Amino acid sequence: MLVAVHARSGERVEASKHLPASPDYRCPVCGWTVIVKPGRVVVSHFAHRPAGPRCGAQGESIPHMRAKVLLAQRFREHGYDVALEEPHSGGRRRVDVAVTIRGRNGPVRVAVEVQDSAIAVGELQRRNHADKQAGFFATLWVFTTNRLSRARGSLPGAELRLPEEVRYLDRRWRLPVAVLDVQRERVMLVSTAPIIREGQPYYNEYGDEEYSPDRWLVATRQVHVAAATFELEAVRGRYATARNPDYTAAFKAAAVPDRPWRISSRRDTAHTTADIADPTDEPAWQLAQQLMEQGHTVELEHLPTARRWRHVARTNADDDFDEPGYQWKPV
Ligand SMILES: [Zn+2]
Repeated sequence: MLVAVHARSGERVEASKHLPASPDYRCPVCGWTVIVKPGRVVVSHFAHRPAGPRCGAQGESIPHMRAKVLLAQRFREHGYDVALEEPHSGGRRRVDVAVTIRGRNGPVRVAVEVQDSAIAVGELQRRNHADKQAGFFATLWVFTTNRLSRARGSLPGAELRLPEEVRYLDRRWRLPVAVLDVQRERVMLVSTAPIIREGQPYYNEYGDEEYSPDRWLVATRQVHVAAATFELEAVRGRYATARNPDYTAAFKAAAVPDRPWRISSRRDTAHTTADIADPTDEPAWQLAQQLMEQGHTVELEHLPTARRWRHVARTNADDDFDEPGYQWKPV
């Protein structure tokens, strides 16, 4: 818990390492006394004193709190008005980070919801609905890299199995899904494309060759990861019409340089770097392989998102390729 209520003034107080200790801090959900834990290793937060009632505000994970603090900090740096853990619907719902942004006709409020663990689609829809009822313009879902760990380690066009709630949001809005890398303090936009597997040949009862129909994969998508800034904007959704703009809120995509990928190689004291447009591009691939064969350690970095890979010799015996080769492994 990052916000407590001061028993005498009734004001909401945010935990920080500068906040003085006091017996007057109360849990906004159950009213029990809470104490501030000034964060040295973990993030500053409030904890219930022992022997309190069972309370929904207890037992929150450290990564979830860290993510909320990081988002609040970055949003405030962009000049947004931010409230952490804002309750509504009679206290049954608490918005992780409530942000006021500029809408077309004046300021609007966005409920930013951080998801560090799995959530049922029904629960996600309930929260969206409750936020709308409470006057929020939109609910913006942000998944941590815990929830989408492989999105951080995938090259452009990689095929990933996505959790159901991410697929739901993708289907509902046809907009990239936001992923927060708390450690590197970056936010990324993950967009997806459907994968169609070609039908396999087989022989029918008359011995004629036939093909089974092509099929669409349901849970596995091709993903592309792009960098975003911590600025929010109102964007039109999938069902936008002349009458209904179907607005939601999204992170703004970052400007990406022409050569966003960096190949660096190292052997003994020799160290070289080259910036390239696309790591799956043939010349870039050949360059990396040549360096590997000369005994260099080769690394690839996506500069806008700080995702990194190391080039390693392919050892997997199950691989379809007969000849030995190299592949990128996430660092
Ligand atoms: Zn409580």
